[in-house]
Amino acid sequence: MNMDFMRKLPIPMEIKREFPISKEMEKTREMRDIEIKNVFTGKSDKFILVIGPCSADNSASVLDYISRLRVVQDKVKDRIIIIPRVYTNKPRTTGEGYKGMLHQPDPSHEADMLHGIIAIRELHMTALKDYSFSCADEMLYPDNHRYLSDLLAYVAIGARSVEDQQHRLAASGLNVPVGMKNPTEGDLTIMLNSIRAAQQGHRFIYRGWEVQSKGNKFAHAVLRGYTDYSGHPLPNYHYENLQRLYADYLASGLQNPSVLVDTNHSNSGKMYLEQIRIAKDVLYSRKVNEDIRTLVKGLMIESYIEDGAQKIGENVYGKSITDPCLGWEKTEKLIYEIAESV
Ligand code: PEP
Ligand code: MN
Repeated sequence: MNMDFMRKLPIPMEIKREFPISKEMEKTREMRDIEIKNVFTGKSDKFILVIGPCSADNSASVLDYISRLRVVQDKVKDRIIIIPRVYTNKPRTTGEGYKGMLHQPDPSHEADMLHGIIAIRELHMTALKDYSFSCADEMLYPDNHRYLSDLLAYVAIGARSVEDQQHRLAASGLNVPVGMKNPTEGDLTIMLNSIRAAQQGHRFIYRGWEVQSKGNKFAHAVLRGYTDYSGHPLPNYHYENLQRLYADYLASGLQNPSVLVDTNHSNSGKMYLEQIRIAKDVLYSRKVNEDIRTLVKGLMIESYIEDGAQKIGENVYGKSITDPCLGWEKTEKLIYEIAESV
């Protein structure tokens, strides 16, 4: 083979034994799980915000950011459920660039997967223990999910993974809402097929085991915009897009029809400041159309402490090293505005 097997890594059970969660943390997560699932079933009309940096690149600044979200969450708790984005592994279109804390616990040092596994577990644990937040992460590598499975509130399947069978099968075995993004080229049937696959039980191979999943009725759609034949970003958050998706969802017979709108990526063309206008546009569509109001359960927003993005090595505290994010002051204002309007 054309690769070195460098070291055998501990399995998730061993990592969980070494870094266990307390009964209290488990209880906090369970209570949030119920609250969040009630939004997807329609029992609760609270609005979900999956919000935070594109990538969790640095534990100190991510936890600082989360501590600020905590203060805001307590003020808007009657209307909004905040799920911090703590994205610890990043899909890279060309394979180049920062692949997340899992690969590089310190972005300025070499890849170190063992320390990466421990670093991402510790980060998610601290968010839960110190700030009572179970968080969202992307399931880029289905086999790795169990390193964090007792900590997460929400799992996203990225635009580049949504057509992959192993992602769909693994999603069918998760017990938290899984957001299936539309693929980069925008075909919504691929996303809906992925939701269908995840909502059913399957027999398959997972981490060397033959497993039987039960199906995940909380698998749902995430609209992230798409790119045309020349790679140009195009939005899919507009009123007509949401209306169309509502009709397609209805015709599909899928359970718990739900959408989160991702305000960045191809919806904003990564013009991160546009996220404010896009969020308000979606809220307006909800306001004027009851079907859209019941369909759109929340937003996914890329936000951090500083506006924009920087290159690795520039070392501006709290500034994204992957996609550009909305800075804290604008974020805080936007969350209060969203709370006023939902
Ligand atoms: C992301 O959420 O940062 C991301 C990479 O999203 P997508 O899969 O939609 O490109
Ligand atoms: Mn991003």
